[in-house]
Amino acid sequence: MSLKDIIKKSAFVEILQGMSVTGKYFVGDKVTVEYPKEKIVPYPRFRGMHALLTDPATGVLNCCGCHLCETICPSQCIYIDTSEVDNHKSIDRFDIDLSRCIFCGFCEEVCPCAAIVMTKVYELATYDKSEFYLTKETLVANQVNAHKETVRR
Ligand code: SF4
Ligand code: SF4
Repeated sequence: MSLKDIIKKSAFVEILQGMSVTGKYFVGDKVTVEYPKEKIVPYPRFRGMHALLTDPATGVLNCCGCHLCETICPSQCIYIDTSEVDNHKSIDRFDIDLSRCIFCGFCEEVCPCAAIVMTKVYELATYDKSEFYLTKETLVANQVNAHKETVRR
């Protein structure tokens, strides 16, 4: 062991160096939040729980039943059933199985009617797996969160 090493060891240089890093973060700005009391604001391009949008005037779904989102979905977790009513497509079923969704955003990107959007809802934890299965009614109800910056389920 060299004299330099002996001096370093006896002066606890490494320990002091380590403590200086701890001290720097102790007095500096916090990088964590006290969740769930504090919430972070997701990044603008964050993709959370889906919503289906309706026309505010009529309450009719924007969805034209083209099935593009269902077709492009890499997880195949969108289920749509349609029927013809008075020469219009009626959306009888529009379900998403969130437990299989990878939140890629392809469904929102491909939609020609701006009917399906991904909100900033990120608190999806649940004890009941069936809650991950979103029905048309749940997706429509979630449109209230479509333009919020940070939201709870
Ligand atoms: S976000 Fe991706 S995986 Fe999830 S439903 Fe949409 S297309 Fe499918
Ligand atoms: S892509 Fe849009 S319009 Fe087509 S079925 Fe999906 S939500 Fe409806």
